[in-house]
Amino acid sequence: MISQENTAFKQLCDHLRETAQLGSVESLLGWDERTKMPIRGGSYRAEQMALLAGIVHGRRTDPRIGDWLAELESCSLAEDPHSDAGTVIRRTRWDYDKQVRIPQSLVEEISRTTTRGQQTWVEARKNNDFASLAPVLDTIIALKQQQAEAVGYEQTPYDALLDDFEPGETTDNVRRILEDLRGDLVPLVASIAESPNQPDTSMLTRDYPVEIQEQFGTRVAAKVGFDFERGRLDTTHHPFCTGLGPDDCRITTRYDPAFFSSSFFGILHEAGHGFYELGMRNEWYGLPPGSCTSLGIHESQSRFWENMVGRSEPFWNWCLPLARQHFPDSLGDVQPAGIYFAVNAVRPSLIRVEADEVTYNLHIIIRFELEQAMIAGDLVAADLPAAWNEKYQHTLGITPPDDADGVMQDIHWSAGLIGYFPTYALGNLYAAQFLAAAAEELGDIGRMVGQGQFGPLQEWMGRHIHRHGQCFSAAELVERATGQPLSHKPLVDYLKNKLQPLYGLAPEPV
Ligand code: ZN
Repeated sequence: MISQENTAFKQLCDHLRETAQLGSVESLLGWDERTKMPIRGGSYRAEQMALLAGIVHGRRTDPRIGDWLAELESCSLAEDPHSDAGTVIRRTRWDYDKQVRIPQSLVEEISRTTTRGQQTWVEARKNNDFASLAPVLDTIIALKQQQAEAVGYEQTPYDALLDDFEPGETTDNVRRILEDLRGDLVPLVASIAESPNQPDTSMLTRDYPVEIQEQFGTRVAAKVGFDFERGRLDTTHHPFCTGLGPDDCRITTRYDPAFFSSSFFGILHEAGHGFYELGMRNEWYGLPPGSCTSLGIHESQSRFWENMVGRSEPFWNWCLPLARQHFPDSLGDVQPAGIYFAVNAVRPSLIRVEADEVTYNLHIIIRFELEQAMIAGDLVAADLPAAWNEKYQHTLGITPPDDADGVMQDIHWSAGLIGYFPTYALGNLYAAQFLAAAAEELGDIGRMVGQGQFGPLQEWMGRHIHRHGQCFSAAELVERATGQPLSHKPLVDYLKNKLQPLYGLAPEPV
């Protein structure tokens, strides 16, 4: 029987699927721009991307969506908001209401400006010339302020931007959680710095030829579970993962021939994102039940494989013999316990993507504070380098030697990604909570990882996280998967349990 509402549901789903196809073409152009495109292709590419962004926005605000939703919201398909059909209706409403408030001209201007911003960033960073980036950053901030005003917010314009990446989260709540986290991490960093036990990290900066790093990273990613028939690995300056279709996930990394960790942990990180992209149900691709629920959850998947697995002791018991096959000269004299301590070295450093698991969160807090100030109109781009350097000195005790490794190290702001940074810290918090819950359910995770058996962990993530798409919000997923609401405690416990023994620190009395 084909009822009226089933017809409307089918029409809505067909429309959303076609929009997702166009969106994936846009993603493909973006992937190409960052991995393959010759530099002078940039201005035409910006026009292509702006055109597609305009078409996609036009489809996401098509008035027929409003009509279909109005019909569907009162029918039985919407009764359970967490069912697949209910999720299509609920999340399409959330997106539609937001999109129709943003004028098409603003969408196109944001797309054009942020494409130019990314291209300007590449050149400005290369030349350590922040002055050439500042004007476009000011324009981007102004456009994002306009976007926040158009969409609306309850407390602060930043809420409207955060909601794009972490639906349902609020600035206030994130600020509170990150403050709690900072309160526990700062003393931990201090006691680690004072410890006489410090790792020897010299094996990480020996000779690691790029082609062999690529072979080794590809081999480990495949063993951990990345399907190279449904994805590929390429090289870029700022690593990322993008899904281009239900069976096509692209990950990238960057190589340093004199540093092992940069590409290796980058690959594990992006593969973790890839597991989520490829772990959602194909039959819902492009629709809410087959889409990621929040960037914080996405990041929890990457941080889980990069850190909770990839920087664990059992992992190195398993992985070091493989690594030695690829790098006999550089790793021949290294023991698992030695490299395990080395890859868990905690040291305040300049570059977020290479920061250790503890200070990483402090990098995020700095950006979170700066971008709130920019959106509030309290900080203009010209003053950003000084504000950045002051916060690094205050929080981490170091000052960048130049802007290329300071304020220009991240592409996010140049790409218009404002409200995005906190999701990195949320990812760490979620990941630690998932690890504790998975250990409770699966038993001895360390034994499995030590034997190179990653299937049970993949299956756990698939069952609790990936397959649900947007059927639950991040907060709901965390509560369902772990039985607890989001808390900073599991991450702090995880870090202390790992780092206190390594650094010979006595656990403080409870
Ligand atoms: Zn990530």
